[in-house]
Amino acid sequence: MDLDWKNLGFAVRKTDYHVRCVYRDGKWSDLEVSPDDHLSIHIGATCLHYGQESFEGLKAYRGADDRIRLFRPWDNARRMINSARGILLAEVPEELFLEAVEKVVLLNRNYIPPYGTGATLYVRPLLIGTGPEVGVRPAKEYTFLVFVMPVGPYFKEGFKPVSMVICRKHDRAAPLGTGHLKVGGNYAASMSSVAAAHEKGFATAMYLDAREKKYIDECGPANFFAIKDNTYITPDSHSILPSITNNSLQVLAESFGMKVEKRPVPVEELAQFDEAGACGTAAVISPIGKVVDEETDRVYTFGDGVNPGPVTTRLYETLTGIQNGDLEDTFGWVKILQ
Ligand SMILES: *Cc1c(COP(=O)(O)O)cnc(C)c1O
Repeated sequence: MDLDWKNLGFAVRKTDYHVRCVYRDGKWSDLEVSPDDHLSIHIGATCLHYGQESFEGLKAYRGADDRIRLFRPWDNARRMINSARGILLAEVPEELFLEAVEKVVLLNRNYIPPYGTGATLYVRPLLIGTGPEVGVRPAKEYTFLVFVMPVGPYFKEGFKPVSMVICRKHDRAAPLGTGHLKVGGNYAASMSSVAAAHEKGFATAMYLDAREKKYIDECGPANFFAIKDNTYITPDSHSILPSITNNSLQVLAESFGMKVEKRPVPVEELAQFDEAGACGTAAVISPIGKVVDEETDRVYTFGDGVNPGPVTTRLYETLTGIQNGDLEDTFGWVKILQ
């Protein structure tokens, strides 16, 4: 495959196959391989009307040794089970999830970007209610599918700090709602505030806890973390999606001899942080240079605003090094496919 690997961006792109299976009469069918990137479903499917759907996101990396690696795929499998329990989808067993991910990655191996390009193969598992219901109730039939696409390096211009705006007019998730689940409804709820942040020139919106508007929740579709006094600090809240990247960064910070605090983080504490960042699979880390609070007219800045801080940089380089196989995987995070 000869693609312009560095300029792919983060966009849907056709590959050769996806894999899928159907849950009917209480059991999952065998995995089916399909070259078609369309799906034919009933117009009354619950995913279309009532948002009964969950998704995941992970990446396949090609190492300098040409081997293909997945990063903590079993954690994505378990998180999808948790999402399924939360909105009453049929659960996809961990073994089936892993089999589907491995199969679709190997079937599309020609699209896994070469080592050194910074590009990766993005893997998107999707679980949807495909049985029709017009009353609000869980479907009797579900489809689980996994598709892939090569995506470019997230930071084409390099690993540079971004600006965010605090969102006070809108919430992405209710205090006891579905913010902790990876379900489409949370994303629909976030689109208008993220679009408004983009219009004003910010990378994304920073959400606060919906109940009191005092504590930091998430940064668009990514978790928040900060560094202060040799401590890695990240918010603890029911409405935050438990990010596998964030969890990995916490483990790495501890391995660097840092303290890790998972606790409510008041907005005003932004003034005390040495470094701040947003984390998730897509970017690994987006360093934050500036946070603007339009209501209080406060502007919080981190470091020199131009370069990522030293701890953020070390975390980023260590995690991406483990993911692409440059650094030894001492935590048992990597699954080598071949
Ligand atoms: C997927 C997601 C993240 C990042 O999770 P990772 O497992 O690190 O990719 C963070 N926040 C939200 C809302 C998400 O949906």
